[in-house]
Amino acid sequence: MAVIVANWKMNKVLSEAIEFTKALKSMSIKNGRKVIIAPPFVYLNQIVNELKGTEISVSAQNMFYEDKGAYTGEISPLQLIDIGVEYVIIGHSERRNIFKEDDELISKKLKSAISHNLTPIFCIGEKIEERRSGKTFEIIKKQLTDGLKLINADEIYKIIFAYEPVWAIGTGVNATPEQAGEVHQWIKAYLEKKYLNLTGESVKILYGGSVTAENAKSLMSIDGVDGLLVGGASLKIDSFEKIINF
Ligand code: PEP
Repeated sequence: MAVIVANWKMNKVLSEAIEFTKALKSMSIKNGRKVIIAPPFVYLNQIVNELKGTEISVSAQNMFYEDKGAYTGEISPLQLIDIGVEYVIIGHSERRNIFKEDDELISKKLKSAISHNLTPIFCIGEKIEERRSGKTFEIIKKQLTDGLKLINADEIYKIIFAYEPVWAIGTGVNATPEQAGEVHQWIKAYLEKKYLNLTGESVKILYGGSVTAENAKSLMSIDGVDGLLVGGASLKIDSFEKIINF
């Protein structure tokens, strides 16, 4: 099953979000595609209701790890599951870099999401200067090791991983098949060696970073790429339809 996630980030007003969702609902989607929409928090409730009775799921773009309390401006896992949200993006590079989220916080969020039966979409990826200085795998390994610190071996398969090279996000420069394939295969081997040979489960790793209607098919043909996390090209129904039905 190819997992295709639309990350709308801080885009769309309610009428646009509903219009898109209605169009998505009436679209014919090829077999073997799992579609997930991640709208801004304020529209989650309406979009969940709009998609009731369909196979399309809804994700939050972030959450806090506590269930409730004095955390002004935050949203809890309890609140997300209460309205029917099933997935949550954790550790997006914009959260890491603009809002200074570190691996320790990300690990708490991952643990909390799993314990509430929310499926985390856990983002990792290197910056351009890290790639240029040959540190890609060192960075990926640190993000995995520290981010998964609180996660037990039997919980690893409950996470959807997303490799998103920071230099490819919103830049129009996607990773080449060689670059993406190399990192996806490395992550799979690392996780399998460290955790999954204990459980026999396998993990899904999405690719994210300047996915378009034009490059979706070739990115999906890379060994180790199980789906796509799409930002800019998920905002327009035409391009998103082509990506879903690559
Ligand atoms: C993203 O938001 O995770 C992303 C990959 O954005 P874009 O597709 O615009 O590069």
